[in-house]
Amino acid sequence: MDKNMFASDNYSGICPDAWQALQTANGGYSTSYGDDPWTAKACDALRDFFETDCQVFFVFNGTAANSLALASLCRSYHSIICHGTAHVETDECGAVEFFSNGTKVLLVSGEDGKIDPDEVTHTVERRSDIHYPKPKVLSITQATELGTLYSVDEMKAVGELARRHQLKLHVDGARFANALATLQVPAAQLTWKAGVDVLTFGGTKNGMPVGEAVVFFDKTLAEEFDYRCKQAGQLASKMRYLAAPWVGMLEQGALLKNAAHANKCAKLLAEKLLTVPQIRLVHPVQANAVFVQMPEALIDALHAGGWHFYTFIGSGHARFMCSWQTCEEEILRFGAELTKVAAELQMG
Ligand SMILES: *Cc1c(COP(=O)(O)O)cnc(C)c1O
Repeated sequence: MDKNMFASDNYSGICPDAWQALQTANGGYSTSYGDDPWTAKACDALRDFFETDCQVFFVFNGTAANSLALASLCRSYHSIICHGTAHVETDECGAVEFFSNGTKVLLVSGEDGKIDPDEVTHTVERRSDIHYPKPKVLSITQATELGTLYSVDEMKAVGELARRHQLKLHVDGARFANALATLQVPAAQLTWKAGVDVLTFGGTKNGMPVGEAVVFFDKTLAEEFDYRCKQAGQLASKMRYLAAPWVGMLEQGALLKNAAHANKCAKLLAEKLLTVPQIRLVHPVQANAVFVQMPEALIDALHAGGWHFYTFIGSGHARFMCSWQTCEEEILRFGAELTKVAAELQMG
């Protein structure tokens, strides 16, 4: 058994539908730099998926998708409001500030990785003078870095909050498919119908080899975005290989199926973890992540047994991730080993 499987959803491989689409796209010659039939088809498939005439770009990774999307919404003297645990703040090495030529990121807190609306209001209203970086964008993550979700109503409220303060609304959707799979609503309802201007839609963690889509619902904001991508080294010459997996996974339904599977596995994994009384859930399991508090001795014993999982993410608890590739049998075997290790430590 591979004891790396819960460390991250990007430890997973390429899912069969994405792989098949790549193989089909690999037949012969094709035009380059996005001027190919696969890219056109992927954009159309995403427009169908969101039921609107959005503008779509494909880039190599989430850091580029987020930081270029955010840079296109701001000028250098503006500010972006996000949660303190947001990937753009904690895991992108300052890419947002870099690509926006210095736009300041202002942090707010809130339960379970979700922004507290009152804090956003306070951040916008506490100053209006020329010495303060002008708030311009609200950036949220769906599903959050802590494996939680903004419900449809919460999304609507976030949209209204942004509108009230004249902020553009960006969603980091590295795990947007996981949110859709749990909430079971049309993608439109969680995005443009709720006031989202730009979504960075993750493919990699959900079974693609590489690549994220940047989806502009307000097309005026996409002006010259292609130049931004090129300058940042994010314009793939063989774009068909970034686009084809989207076609395959949207046409065959794997996009939501993979996410639903990962979410279901996370529920089962949480159940197994919680059989040890000393383990406590720290956030509700609403997507494909399980965050638990567990005794140091147990963490050390599992790590010593070769189990790989991180303890530095979010509030520093143990994080277990599931993906399209996680196997229920493997969760059961992990559960059995956990029981054994806990018993050896005289827990449970
Ligand atoms: C994984 C992830 C990304 C993308 O990260 P890259 O490593 O740059 O592809 C973005 N946002 C969140 C919330 C993520 O978990």
